[in-house]
Amino acid sequence: MPLIVDVEVIPLMTPEIEAEDCDGSTDTVVVRVTDENGVSGVGESDAPPLAVKAYIEHPTLHVWSQNLRDVLIGRDPFELAALYDTLYESTIYPGRRGLGIHALSAIDIALHDLVGKQLARPVFQLLGGRRRDALVPYATIFPGLPQGRSLDEVVADVGAKVDRALEIGFRAVKIALFYEGAPDADLVEALARTRERVGERVTVAVDFGFRWREWRDALRALERLADYDIAFAEAPLAHDDLEGHAELAARSPIRIGGGEFSATRFEFREWLDAGIDVLEPDISRCGGLTEIRRIADEAAVRSRTVVPHGWKTGITAAAQRHFHAATPNCPMFELLAPELGRSTLRARLTYPEPAVRDGVMELPEGPGLGIELDEEVVERYRVDRREAASL
Ligand code: MG
Repeated sequence: MPLIVDVEVIPLMTPEIEAEDCDGSTDTVVVRVTDENGVSGVGESDAPPLAVKAYIEHPTLHVWSQNLRDVLIGRDPFELAALYDTLYESTIYPGRRGLGIHALSAIDIALHDLVGKQLARPVFQLLGGRRRDALVPYATIFPGLPQGRSLDEVVADVGAKVDRALEIGFRAVKIALFYEGAPDADLVEALARTRERVGERVTVAVDFGFRWREWRDALRALERLADYDIAFAEAPLAHDDLEGHAELAARSPIRIGGGEFSATRFEFREWLDAGIDVLEPDISRCGGLTEIRRIADEAAVRSRTVVPHGWKTGITAAAQRHFHAATPNCPMFELLAPELGRSTLRARLTYPEPAVRDGVMELPEGPGLGIELDEEVVERYRVDRREAASL
């Protein structure tokens, strides 16, 4: 196979970045890996773009803290899992979890895209092949943080976005209603009303945005929602409160989901041990396609599902489609629909954007991830050639 000759790290930041909101799709960092024939693959990481660039490009310090570009140059990209392990071991000193693994995720996704292109095969075939005939995405309905709006106003926004999602073709949604100041009773009532409004043929999950500090409070709210056919309850507690998650998962009438910030199968083993029903790794953070497959395999032998988190650009959306296509215990995946957000990068960084019809998407076609970067968008928003502060 043609060998790797270049690794480029491209941080992208848009004027849509808003410190008062909670939208990770307004920036990204793209990694582009190129082989000796000039063929490239792309990946991205959902982590601070300039930090990822500095991490990947930092000069080698010693055997456990190496420059990742140097590790990759001259290597055969086809040995995907071996390369992941080499990258992991080459950065074991600063890496292992968090940012180091988020950075590795972008590289691993890019390597899959590159190898798929070299072989003229879709990435899902590199992951073991087709395990379903159609893809099932769910649309996250995120009205943004309240920012001065009343609960009723935010709930009305949720309703309008749900209608739009159904109109686009989705038949599964997740309601992300983050309203810290609302009493639990009001929040439960708003969710129950929204759930009834969409009808029983639509799958509905709920994201609580790390609302409760104590599992008993979360349990009381979930018990009140027990009869509303909620597919899973995401992020009810603080992310690292695994003891609370375990208490809640043991008693909740609704499946508990979480883990969007976690990295590697080692961290997800802790979520499995806590009894979490639905693991939600993000491919652009947990260690890429190589590591999420390992996480899914661990989940499968313990009778759990994986519903990947994804709130970035078309690169992550494509990686999600291929993972879902190839993974038996992944019943659906999160899709940030460009029409439902305001992100220029989500709408325009990659093309084509496949359609959702009657709740499903066609299996992705390759080669690789099956997407192209819009180079004009890349040039317009890259911040490594100018000061980020001048945005
Ligand atoms: Mg979430």
